[in-house]
Formats: sequence, C-alpha cells, structure tokens
Amino acid sequence: MSECVCCGAIIPEGRQVCPDCEIKTRKNEERYNAFVTYPDGERHFGSGTMKEIAKWVEVELLAGADEFHMQKVKAGDKHG
Ligand SMILES: [Zn+2]
Repeated sequence: MSECVCCGAIIPEGRQVCPDCEIKTRKNEERYNAFVTYPDGERHFGSGTMKEIAKWVEVELLAGADEFHMQKVKAGDKHG
C-alpha cells in the first residue's frame, strides 16, 4: 500500500493519487511548456504538468541537455 501524494489517503501500490484527487488534478493541474538546449544548439520541446515535465527534463538532462527553460501555460488558452 502507498499514500496519495495529494491528500495522504491509503491507496493501492503503484498508484500516486487516490481516484478523487486524480479527477481533481486532471481538471485543475496547471500545464507548462518547456524546452531544453543541447551544447550543439539543438532544442527539444516538451509540455505537460509539473510532474510530467520534471520526468521529461530528467531524461533530457541525462541525455546531455545543459539548459532548461519552462513557462506556465496561461489558463483559458483553449482556442488554438
Ligand atoms: Zn487523494
């Protein structure tokens, strides 16, 4: 068993949040755009929640990226 990272509820092993929080975070979690730069000038772009970005950046940094930039996606950006 493990604990919900949001509210501390006991949840089955392998999950990070309880069903309640999962629904809430899906609706409300802020999204970010991010990119990393490599020493040769190449850029890789990513977007997602803070958690998704953190995971993505870790991989990119391990792959040799040396700079990381991140910007919050403004709410209400649903048109395009
Ligand atoms: Zn929870």
